[in-house]
Amino acid sequence: MSQAVGSVRAVTDVEPAERVEQLRAAIRHHNRLYYELDTPEIPDADYDALVRELQQLEEQFPELITPDSPTRTVGAAPSTAFAPVVHRVPMMSLDNAFTSDELVAWGGRLARRLGELGESERSVGLVAELKIDGLAMSLRYEGGRLVQAATRGDGRTGEDVTANVRTISVVPHQLPAGAPQVLEVRGEIYMPIAVFEALNRAQVEAGQRVYANPRNTAAGSLRQKDPSITASRELAFWSYQLGEVVGGPTLASHHETFDFLASMGFPVNPEVKLLGGLDDAYAHCMHWQEHRHDLAYEIDGVVLKVDDLALQRELGFTSKAPRWAIAYKFPPEERTTKLLDIMVSIGRTGRATPFGRLEPVFVGGSTVGVATLHNQDQVKAKDVRPGDVVIVRKAGDVIPEIVGPVLAERPEGLPEWEFPTHCPVCGHQLVRPEGEADHRCPNISCPARVAGAIEHFASRGAMDIEGLGEQRVQLFCSMGLLHDVADIYSLRAEQLRGIEGFGEVSINNLLSAIEASKGRPLANLLVGLNVRHLGPAASSALASHFGHLDRIVAASQDDLAAIEGVGPTIASAVREWFSDPSNRAVVEKLRQAGVNLQGPAAPELPQNLTGLSVVVTGTLEGFTRDEAEAAIKGRGGKSPGSVSKKTTAVVVGADPGASKLTKATDLGVPILDEAGFVHLLDTGELPPAADTGGPVAR
Ligand code: NAD
Repeated sequence: MSQAVGSVRAVTDVEPAERVEQLRAAIRHHNRLYYELDTPEIPDADYDALVRELQQLEEQFPELITPDSPTRTVGAAPSTAFAPVVHRVPMMSLDNAFTSDELVAWGGRLARRLGELGESERSVGLVAELKIDGLAMSLRYEGGRLVQAATRGDGRTGEDVTANVRTISVVPHQLPAGAPQVLEVRGEIYMPIAVFEALNRAQVEAGQRVYANPRNTAAGSLRQKDPSITASRELAFWSYQLGEVVGGPTLASHHETFDFLASMGFPVNPEVKLLGGLDDAYAHCMHWQEHRHDLAYEIDGVVLKVDDLALQRELGFTSKAPRWAIAYKFPPEERTTKLLDIMVSIGRTGRATPFGRLEPVFVGGSTVGVATLHNQDQVKAKDVRPGDVVIVRKAGDVIPEIVGPVLAERPEGLPEWEFPTHCPVCGHQLVRPEGEADHRCPNISCPARVAGAIEHFASRGAMDIEGLGEQRVQLFCSMGLLHDVADIYSLRAEQLRGIEGFGEVSINNLLSAIEASKGRPLANLLVGLNVRHLGPAASSALASHFGHLDRIVAASQDDLAAIEGVGPTIASAVREWFSDPSNRAVVEKLRQAGVNLQGPAAPELPQNLTGLSVVVTGTLEGFTRDEAEAAIKGRGGKSPGSVSKKTTAVVVGADPGASKLTKATDLGVPILDEAGFVHLLDTGELPPAADTGGPVAR
């Protein structure tokens, strides 16, 4: 039964009365999953479409309206797992607008109603608030103490979740002196995105199913029998409304409510804004539609509320929502579609990334046909299988991803997907190194790796060769013109003539762009060489420190690691890359082609510490440990990790290592403070006041 109910889809040729019943059954089914079980099986956009269809049918056939229709009721009945709480002031829903026309229509309804009330002359100020994607909460304080926290439930009766809410650190347990005798505060409990992401990382590591989104995870975390689980989830709260108040201040406007809430110690969202009227509202909604991903928590719209509380009272409520407020809802970022297949792509470092091939779906502002699945553990944690109906998410500029399957629509016996054992491009066995999440194709000649590496070399952040993008690189590779990045510089006009799309102009443009790239800075070349972990910042650091590619090739791992911004992981990857004879051959080909290997002139340091060994211990003010060691090594000295008879001096900062200090004293090794160290760096001599005095014996 639940399958049939859950999967109700497009309008068929059924009678309106029957369709209305189908829709109501489906909506109630999804309400139960969403509000009671916190495990919705379809995205909000699909649910909203069902509600819209029902609304339209009820408008068209008013005789089909019933008072218990989901279009006229709030949420779902409270779960019996919690004690019931009767709301003294009902907790309503909000009417929605999805377009500017619908906002204008709401403005029209407001104006008409105010006209009927004899208020049409007053201009209506609006407060705009973010529509936080969490769950509504009522917090009741008596005598300044938190006595009850309740969910919205069906708007009249909610669930008692007091013990759980007490674990949320930002919810005050005790209000300041002067708090009203009874104060009911309403707001939204939510899960910050960073908390949600950390939780899911832990789920993947534990081989467990990932949570679908912060909203349902917040609701599931809050509606727990065991409050210690809630406590571990770092939920947060924004207050936005008052419920029952006895003995409180007389407030005239909604925006004053926020000042009052803040004075009582409740978190108030900093983006609440008082607008002149509806004219400003749409621009404000558009602003947040564009910037919704700049926030540390999820929002699904903007709520507009009439500011004047007297007007709010006059406007009143429908059976479901206040007339004085409207929620402008952003276009959906989640939709369902069919997962046609799961495939694996091989990147430039050999990384094998599974991705889903989808029946194209319009989501988050564009049509999506493929979506990433990241790695094997993610596919497992999401339990998606080719043939599933899946939820696809495209949020802002983020690449589209598959959130999870709609289990209710899974065909029986659908097999699990297995990660391929061999590279789909070159057939080499894939490896998954111990402790790593990714599979890799270890074959450095794998055509997918080669093409990916060449594309990267030519890309904007590296050698920036205009006209040498993904498709051309793949074409040239398949024609046997390119085998490695250096082959780019051997491309000749006669090889390109006759290829579709290559006239004399585009051949000249491409060859000029290739020629121009020879003079790019060394840091760009380093980025382009496709060394694992080596990004632009570390490439710049290497280029300016060593000043020439040959010096980087010759540098030891320790020398590389000592450079600020490089560190041991990158140093080891750089060493490994340059130790490979085939990579060295590529460097030679680049040199022959006349590619610039010279960096910005590194400041020449005097080699005044040659033959000296200086140990550093403790924290210095003017140098990090890496910088101190680099300063010694850059001047030809050594900086070992322990003190011996051969040590020239020990530089001692705050909180030095006791063993180094004792050993230095025992062996009579000179001890320098930071000023003495600077003197040594500048002159190559121990300062006159150092224990041994006089010039240093070499
Ligand atoms: P709503 O979410 O559209 O609006 C009302 C709610 O907004 C309030 O109860 C409150 O929790 C919240 N809110 C956030 N910020 C607010 C603010 N500043 N001021 C006032 N309220 C604020 O309405 P609803 O009836 O709670 O639920 C409908 C929503 O739930 C829709 O988005 C719907 O798609 C989703 N839903 C989805 C499913 C599903 O199966 N996917 C099922 C049921 C409901």
